[in-house]
Amino acid sequence: QGTIVLQVRVALLGEEYILLLADDRTEITRTEAVRNDFVANVSHELKTPVGAISLLAEALEASAEDEDAVRRFARRTHTEAARLAALVQDIIELSRLQGTDVVQQGQAVDLNTVIAEAVDRARLAAESKNISFVVGGHADRAVYGDPHLLVTAFRNLIDNAVRYSPENTRIGIGTNSADGLINIAVTDQGEGISAEDQDRVFERFYRADAARSRHTGGTGLGLSIVKHIVANHGGEVTLWSQPGRGSTFTVRLPEMEGGPGAEVPEAEVP
Ligand code: ADP
Repeated sequence: QGTIVLQVRVALLGEEYILLLADDRTEITRTEAVRNDFVANVSHELKTPVGAISLLAEALEASAEDEDAVRRFARRTHTEAARLAALVQDIIELSRLQGTDVVQQGQAVDLNTVIAEAVDRARLAAESKNISFVVGGHADRAVYGDPHLLVTAFRNLIDNAVRYSPENTRIGIGTNSADGLINIAVTDQGEGISAEDQDRVFERFYRADAARSRHTGGTGLGLSIVKHIVANHGGEVTLWSQPGRGSTFTVRLPEMEGGPGAEVPEAEVP
């Protein structure tokens, strides 16, 4: 890293092409560093459930005579296997998203349908905590994009809202539009996120409270996936939160003219 910076400095005094070369190398070095970092994180994260499954298999073998213990270890094996499966799925999703800047299979997408589907999929988990949804404030609105990816993005936000909220609370999902942009806000009455963590929660594998978050079953990749999907749709996601009061994640996407029934434009993503 130090060498590269030095090269850029030298180049600033020298000829322009050296500067370009140095710039390129800096970019490549950064990409490589990010990739290496990702691989290191992935290996570390995968080792935890794999190690647990291996230990549980040993425990199962050793306690074959004890029916209760077998049941208990089998159940824990199942939990760890499910965590591993979720992790692998998120890693694959994220690496696919990182490989591209724009939506590959775009079409006119009705946001109401996307939100309804994302809410539907989170309903079971919400009901188990007696959390209710308040969806409102939106008319027919369409964006150009990939419906599956958009459902994944909102599903992650809604799943988090459920995961980090106590029982008997509400989750609001409101939509409005202005200046050709649609804002979709997902608000919870949960534990909230401290100011210093707010900048970091979109990073891969970052958890505001590592021990507790692991216990709640997340992979640490959810918000990173959301950020990529929204960026690929030409939008951005922002966060407002106050510890103890709750959080609001707002997704801002460019509106597609003409509403859900409109023709898909020939051009690239707007
Ligand atoms: P995870 O799988 O751990 O939920 P995410 O990338 O989805 O990973 O979120 C990163 C971290 O941000 C979480 O571990 C949690 O600490 C925090 N977080 C995300 N959403 C919320 C929320 N709605 N309320 C409080 N904390 C949240």
